[in-house]
Amino acid sequence: MVPVEIPPNTVMLKGIGWDSNIYLVRSRNEALIIDTGTGTYWNRYVEVWEREGYLKGVTKAVIFNTHEHFDHVGGNSAVKMWLERKDVKVLFAAHRKAAEFLERGDDYVILSFYYGRRYEPEKIAFKLRDGDTLKIGSLRFELIHTPGHTAGSSCLYEPKEKLLFTGDTVFRGTVGRSDLPTGDTRKLAESLRKLAELDVYLGLPGHGGIIKNWEENLRRIRGMFNP
Ligand SMILES: [Zn+2]
Repeated sequence: MVPVEIPPNTVMLKGIGWDSNIYLVRSRNEALIIDTGTGTYWNRYVEVWEREGYLKGVTKAVIFNTHEHFDHVGGNSAVKMWLERKDVKVLFAAHRKAAEFLERGDDYVILSFYYGRRYEPEKIAFKLRDGDTLKIGSLRFELIHTPGHTAGSSCLYEPKEKLLFTGDTVFRGTVGRSDLPTGDTRKLAESLRKLAELDVYLGLPGHGGIIKNWEENLRRIRGMFNP
């Protein structure tokens, strides 16, 4: 597996099979991990981090889930345990609505059974609201609540490099479906309007490739709601 390096601090691992993409952002002795896939291939991802030395010197990691779907959270426990074996302190973060479903292990909303599995609940230390900041080393990430794909969906914005981690809210050429439990098409359209106010250099989605033409991509997909 070849990591996609996004200088200066970010690495993308493309999800295998149904897995979400998995991002790692490094600053000082801290790391931010964004989503963990279904958990089926977790060892393949950590192998790359290990091989490339991405976690060298890291003592604290935050695992942030962009939303409450199993293909983004199924690897949470396995990745946490692997990091803890390396003496890395691990804390979880998510929008407070996603945290609610995750902490009570709501397999209906999480869609665990769709993958023939159950979600193993983890305690979420940072239950974030719209506009909250997540600090990783010297970096500050702003949480933007973007309901629509699910009620707890959110994007993380890093203003220095102008990176936006979009989860399943925005993809290259399309949006996440809104017909699953807690999905809402009208809210999704509102969320896209909110994202249009940001200055974004790269969109980093939960599935598929990096979005380099952010503004044009967003304009096109917003047009799908008002044909
Ligand atoms: Zn999803």
